[in-house]
Amino acid sequence: MTEKRLLVVHTGGTIGMVPGAHGLEPANGFEALMRQRLGERLDTLPAFELVELAPLIDSAELLPAQWRTIADAVVTRYDEYDGFVVLHGTDTMAYTASALSFMLQGLDKPVIVTGSQIPLSRARNDAEGHLLAALALAAHEKIHEVGLYFNGRLLRGNRAVKVDASALAAFDSPNYPPLGEVGIDIRLREDLLLPVASRAFTLPAFDNTAVAVLRLFPGIGSALLQAVLSQPGLKALILQSYGVGNAPVTAPGLLETLEAAVAQGTLVVNLTQCPRGAVAASTYATGSALAQAGVIGGADLTVEAAFAKLHWLLAMGNTPAQAAALMQRPLCGEQRGH
Ligand code: ASP
Repeated sequence: MTEKRLLVVHTGGTIGMVPGAHGLEPANGFEALMRQRLGERLDTLPAFELVELAPLIDSAELLPAQWRTIADAVVTRYDEYDGFVVLHGTDTMAYTASALSFMLQGLDKPVIVTGSQIPLSRARNDAEGHLLAALALAAHEKIHEVGLYFNGRLLRGNRAVKVDASALAAFDSPNYPPLGEVGIDIRLREDLLLPVASRAFTLPAFDNTAVAVLRLFPGIGSALLQAVLSQPGLKALILQSYGVGNAPVTAPGLLETLEAAVAQGTLVVNLTQCPRGAVAASTYATGSALAQAGVIGGADLTVEAAFAKLHWLLAMGNTPAQAAALMQRPLCGEQRGH
């Protein structure tokens, strides 16, 4: 294990932040801090090198176009290393982990995305444990996918969601069991891990304006929906509906607006706003009407995974019909099959 070589890609985020004039801000030179803080605990882990994005990004500012830059940092050095750790802010970590999973299909090495709620620069932090565990996981021969490690658990990257703004247990994967637990030992659920597939890395140029998300609320009308749909460059809309996929379909103009958008080639995907569970739009009349209007059911995808998947499918040049078909089947473990 100690002969392996790992690459750490530092993109920004709390894990590497230091206090600035207006609060925590990204800082260069993380490798020195990491080696100083982890000291001889690194001796039992594989050797690593670290590259930093320039500039480092607070992930709240991260754009879809930058997913490609992060993937590129892995792909251009893919053959030189045995595994990869991507350090990222927690705010949009689940989006980036999802996007990486689509771009890096057919991985035969681990890519472990992690970050922390408290910076490594603070005396008491959750960063040290995350770094040590992520390095160990990135050297694990059984992992061939993008995982997200946080607070003792390895989650599938495209199933993960940030569920807590304040607690150290900040991530969960509500519709899929953890891939592993890191306690006294590393225990992986090998039955859940993705098998090795043929390498199919594709890093398209993402259009930041292509996908939007609209959460339904009591009283929503067609004017707001129309406003969102008229955003320049919009090609797909995620509609976060109620429960198993229901919407106020008798609201004046709502269904007609959706029908018109679908007819013009906009993909509309129905996801539940419940933290857990899946869309089964034909259960209620209010859901069936959406399906009849051409809205696609997004099964048990997280919003983050659906957002990244739509971006990826569109950036890859799929037609609306092709993208609609691919939204309804798993490509890399992001949603349940039929
Ligand atoms: N704003 C930070 C970020 O996402 C929060 C964090 O890393 O926890 O970059």
